[in-house]
Amino acid sequence: MKFSSFARCLRELESTASRKEMVGILAELLKRSSEEEVGKICYLCLGRLAPVYRSVEFNVAEKTMLKVLSFSFGVREDEVRSRYKKLGDLGSVAELLRGEYRGAGRGGDLEVAEVYNELLRIARDSGAGSQERKVHSLAALLRKLSPLGVRYCARIPLGQLRLGFSDVTLIEALAVMVGGGKEEVKFIRQKFNIRPDVGEIVRVIKLHGLEGLKEVGVEIGTPILPALAERMPTMEKIVEKLGEFAVEPKMDGIRLQIHLNKAVNGQPLVDSLESQRELFNEQGSKKESPGALVCIFSRRLDDVTDMFPDVVAAVQKLPVDSAIMDGEAIAYNPDTEEFLPFQETMKRKRKYNVAQKAAELPLKVFLFDLLFLNGKSLLETAFGERRRLLEKLVLDGNLLMAARHTKVNSARKLKKLFDLYISEGLEGVMCKRLDSPYQAGARNFNWVKYKRSAEGVGLPDTVDGLVMGYYAGRGQRAKFGVGAFLAGVFNPQKDRFETIAKVGTGLTDDQWREFSRRVGPLEVKAKPAEYCVAKELECDAWLRPGLVVEIDADEVTCSPVHTAARGLNIVRTGAENGAGLSLRFPRLVRFRDKLPEEATTVEEIMEMYRMQQT
Ligand code: AMP
Repeated sequence: MKFSSFARCLRELESTASRKEMVGILAELLKRSSEEEVGKICYLCLGRLAPVYRSVEFNVAEKTMLKVLSFSFGVREDEVRSRYKKLGDLGSVAELLRGEYRGAGRGGDLEVAEVYNELLRIARDSGAGSQERKVHSLAALLRKLSPLGVRYCARIPLGQLRLGFSDVTLIEALAVMVGGGKEEVKFIRQKFNIRPDVGEIVRVIKLHGLEGLKEVGVEIGTPILPALAERMPTMEKIVEKLGEFAVEPKMDGIRLQIHLNKAVNGQPLVDSLESQRELFNEQGSKKESPGALVCIFSRRLDDVTDMFPDVVAAVQKLPVDSAIMDGEAIAYNPDTEEFLPFQETMKRKRKYNVAQKAAELPLKVFLFDLLFLNGKSLLETAFGERRRLLEKLVLDGNLLMAARHTKVNSARKLKKLFDLYISEGLEGVMCKRLDSPYQAGARNFNWVKYKRSAEGVGLPDTVDGLVMGYYAGRGQRAKFGVGAFLAGVFNPQKDRFETIAKVGTGLTDDQWREFSRRVGPLEVKAKPAEYCVAKELECDAWLRPGLVVEIDADEVTCSPVHTAARGLNIVRTGAENGAGLSLRFPRLVRFRDKLPEEATTVEEIMEMYRMQQT
């Protein structure tokens, strides 16, 4: 497919707010694409070059893009900047400049795959002089595209090509492409949960149909979407609901999914990574020490292997051929034997001075699940059995240990453990059904969390809200440029964000400063298409989806202005018809390391609302 034809499709997608239309356009686009290019097309229309867990970063800032455009189309940089000020989008500036350009190097039209390959090459260029080379290569590439093609191509290195949909919509389009309905969407989504790479999934479907997708299973080196926990209002209800269950401490650290693949006679036992390695050779951060390949993924599926050399070394010593483990890392003070607060643990998530911080802030990794062992997936194995196998792993106890785990059958015992863990400075408890499979990406009652915040007044849990925009600051806040922000929750049925709170309290001066720093690169001129916001809540500045924060509040209430869950069946819970839900007295707790689509969902908010009513 020619890039200009692809760009016309992106324009259609950009100009509609109807999800049904988006699904139709995408299904048609996927149908028209060849087997070789369809994966690349999937990544590109999500504004990426690879699945989220392969970090292919351009490191191209807006300032660099101004240079690229100036160089590409022979226009002075200050002229580019002033056009940018007027239009507010570098893609549109690029399109205009390309339209006016009459100079040399203008090309006809490239194939999508050619553009993709060149973008990947540019992204992977690193080291001395790479910034200069990137400017030149991008400039040459843009000159070869049509004006409309340039609009979209220029936004990709900036990370600004969000067309109002995510993987969720793309999966629906895939089902439509094969003439399927709800069942097919469910099936594809299940596969996506264990292989979160739409590019790969669409390629398999193109080649072998849905039948072929059945063969797709867990793969070492590809993260599985983590299982998630539900909430319940009281300990009695938890006991009633779960039947036979185990209690583990809920630690407030960083979730790590650890993959280990040992070699036997120099050959990795499971070597499904080959094709990916080829593609991401220079970028991939897999550690290949003699015979043991370890990769570590964060909860949002980032490859964080390089940040935890101490964990890599400990995992390499495990006496197994291959394994995937789920656990929580928490910083620890060996002198006082105390766990450190979340903010301290977060300091281990860094790209530089890794070894120094590892020495300053040693970790304990509490493993709480085993998803794959010696070449076999354990996802369907009951948790009680997975736990038994985990305990046999011979963990060193210094860094790697199994999370404490106690079988419980009464609210009294549960309360005792809860009090114990709280007294140790932990967050609460996780209650897990012993007969449950590991359901990747699912939030259900196989796991129930009960946190300190659930005791007494307030919400049963905090809410992870997407920061959608902010309001200018007055008085004391004027110095930060922000007075309050608008937070939203995710509606996966509609693949959009709905508002739940305007938050102006809970932030220290330092947090306001951090807020300003974090939102800067996310600012966009107009309200993103996937935001559903009432007129009364229009922001002074809009932000593209990127920042998720944890919010506490007193309760969930009905709201005439907020759009969360509006139109859904909250009526039976007593909410007024047509009202949405909102948070009363919302306050910021902290910044979260989550993807926008991992924000709390409208269903969860409805559930919290119902819990309050009982
Ligand atoms: P939340 O982020 O509040 O939904 O809680 C789920 C998170 O708790 C998981 O993503 C883990 O990072 C963390 N966690 C801490 N301890 C455990 C445990 N024993 N089992 C599962 N998750 C845990």
